[in-house]
Amino acid sequence: MRESASAQELLDWYDRNARRMPWRVGPDARRLGVRPDPYRIWMSEVMLQQTTVAAVKSYFETFTARWPTVVDLAAAEDADVMAAWAGLGYYARARNLLKCARAVANDHGGVFPDTREGLLSLPGIGPYTAAAVAAIAFDRPETVVDGNVERVMARLHDEHTPLPTAKPVLTEMAAALTPQERPGDYAQAVMDLGATICTPRKPACGLCPWRKPCAAWEAGTAAELPRKLPKKRKPTRLGIAYLARRVDGAWLLERRPDKGLLGGMLGWPGSDWGDAPQDDPPIRAEWRELPAEARHTFTHFHLRLTVKTALVPMDRAPIRGDFVELPDFSPSDLPTVMRKAFDLAKDS
Ligand code: SF4
Repeated sequence: MRESASAQELLDWYDRNARRMPWRVGPDARRLGVRPDPYRIWMSEVMLQQTTVAAVKSYFETFTARWPTVVDLAAAEDADVMAAWAGLGYYARARNLLKCARAVANDHGGVFPDTREGLLSLPGIGPYTAAAVAAIAFDRPETVVDGNVERVMARLHDEHTPLPTAKPVLTEMAAALTPQERPGDYAQAVMDLGATICTPRKPACGLCPWRKPCAAWEAGTAAELPRKLPKKRKPTRLGIAYLARRVDGAWLLERRPDKGLLGGMLGWPGSDWGDAPQDDPPIRAEWRELPAEARHTFTHFHLRLTVKTALVPMDRAPIRGDFVELPDFSPSDLPTVMRKAFDLAKDS
């Protein structure tokens, strides 16, 4: 009979193979008594939602260098935080990051609650982040289930129910394995296993500490798991972005409303995004349409943005938006889709 997987086997593997992360306190340092900083763990977990470790690292370094504590972040200007987040996507996370930092600073004396329930009471922290921070920062035996963990559990148990239907059963499986000893290291160990060995394609089962108890390895089904229900095709929406430049070099920009897609971010004035966008320029000018579109894919749709450019005189007042003069304008403050439009205009 196949033996059951044990947390200890994975922890032994983690002790030898833990990935280095800017926010992580590795197993050797943990043994010496170094504790993770909850602020850094929380920030990394928020940044990592829907985003890869490689993409997050430089943003994490920038944020923690500029705002080293949660109190520093709470005191930051909204616009500075949104600009620093530009390019990382899913901008609601940046607004929630600020809300949460301010709640910790104002209502909790700058100290993060140290339980899952306490963390869940903060704005912008959902069940996943609460469990991850409670486990990693405070060594609480919480079950942390991300995409990596789901994949590892589905394979370990040769579970063929497709996602998302399988989520509750995969969570139960993960909970059954979560140890009371070193739960923080264990949570990170499963994530590391999923990211480096039990990868979506071509898992490296020969190197896996759980190969013996793995049911999918025995059945030869690892590469097929986890099964997923077919995704709906994404619709395509159309829009227009207006890039007006004043003769002194200032660009016409508009901050997007807090609610909705790219909420709170700086961007080019534009039309709504839909089937037939209305041509409604933000300033009177000779508009020129660029031959290429800015294309971008969001979670639920593809966007094709017609880019129009114009040069306007100093005394022309905009109907919408404000001119931002050159030293204050940095393309890196723009979300990716807006930067794509800028790159097209700049190259034209
Ligand atoms: S043996 Fe292979 S499929 Fe099973 S957990 Fe390890 S890497 Fe994943």
